[in-house]
Amino acid sequence: MAFIVQKFGGSSVANAERIWRVAGIIAETYSEGNDVVVVLSAQGDTTDELIEKAAEINPHASKREMDVLLSTGEQISIALMAMALEKMGLPVISLTGWQIGMLTNSDYGNARIKKVSCDRIRNELDKRRIVIVAGFQGINKYDDITTLGRGGSDTTAVAIAAAMNADLCQIYTDVEGVFTADPRKVPNARKLEEITYDEMLELASLGAKVLHNRSVEMAKRYNVNLEVLSSFVRAPGTKVKEVVKLEQTKISGIAKDTNVARIALIGVKDEPGVAFKVFRELARHKINVDIILQSIGHGDTQDISFTVAKSDMAQAVQSLQEQQEVIGFKELSVTDKIAKVSMVGAGMVNSSGVAALMFEALYAAKINIHMISTSEIKVSVLVDESEADRAVQAVHAKFFGN
Ligand code: ADP
Ligand code: ASP
Ligand code: MG
Repeated sequence: MAFIVQKFGGSSVANAERIWRVAGIIAETYSEGNDVVVVLSAQGDTTDELIEKAAEINPHASKREMDVLLSTGEQISIALMAMALEKMGLPVISLTGWQIGMLTNSDYGNARIKKVSCDRIRNELDKRRIVIVAGFQGINKYDDITTLGRGGSDTTAVAIAAAMNADLCQIYTDVEGVFTADPRKVPNARKLEEITYDEMLELASLGAKVLHNRSVEMAKRYNVNLEVLSSFVRAPGTKVKEVVKLEQTKISGIAKDTNVARIALIGVKDEPGVAFKVFRELARHKINVDIILQSIGHGDTQDISFTVAKSDMAQAVQSLQEQQEVIGFKELSVTDKIAKVSMVGAGMVNSSGVAALMFEALYAAKINIHMISTSEIKVSVLVDESEADRAVQAVHAKFFGN
């Protein structure tokens, strides 16, 4: 007997037929004698639809009220799933984030988990009930509802698995595991049998939305036994773990992120303190900066460009423009028709020339690179958004063949 946390994403519970299929998976796990905690996302596109509904009423709704609204999607799923299992004659109970004591900070819309009080779940498991938990939602110290950021149900599942020392945390989704690239965009992408926490964390942070990046961060910290697999096809998925068997390839995957905007400050004074003034201003507004490029000075000026998340673009532009005199730049240009394409692989550390192969693939595909950034296990390039899918395919073909 084991303690298993199973998370099912939105497409896995999108309609009645799929709810029954998932109920079958849960029932099977339970009837093998396991303790089962199930975490669910909102059905299909419910969360997007709720965001649209809010915009019809108030496009500038407060983040607090947005969270009250968005958390309802998951509550529908858990009730429906519990009803399905009830009908199958199984003992089951559905619980919201508040009921399981999922305590978060107060960063509405992107809250971080501080603690999961496991008492209620433990009590229900002791009664041999299947526990169905609403993903994505928590509660802060004011007893207000919070949400964990888009895709956050994965993190709910891993947090419960970590807090309760589960034997296994299974993330069921609409693809068979983690692939070398998004299988919907790159048809010959390969399923990985296993991947390290570090590589998965990079891929997730660089746009491979198959796992929420915070869920991977937490799985690594608490050494959670994590597996990504399909709720549609019963086949072994991808294991995410600390160390994996040595593979031939140096690259584990290619990812694309379109949530990027580039801001360029042109004609910045070439003198000490300028970068400080720019990034202090952004930090004041809690805006994260990703790739930074500073050009060589021409005359007594230089250019500084950098990327931020699309959602931060308007605020970043506004605050820099307000500080134009203080920072001292001639012009500001901005675009969000840009995307970041990255390749990730722990094998890059000890081998030279991997980045060159990526650049060669992009050159052969006649794709222009605007910015480059590297770390030990990844190389990212900024390209035009309209060319991003082609860039992913070209780089993927270079490393994994056509
Ligand atoms: P869920 O609703 O189950 O949480 P998501 O839509 O959040 O599912 O994540 C699954 C999707 O992630 C897949 O349908 C796939 O298109 C996308 N994806 C992007 N990159 C990858 C990758 N490297 N491997 C697998 N899936 C990926
Ligand atoms: N329903 C939420 C979303 O669409 C959380 C999740 O699916 O993980 O982002
Ligand atoms: Mg998801």
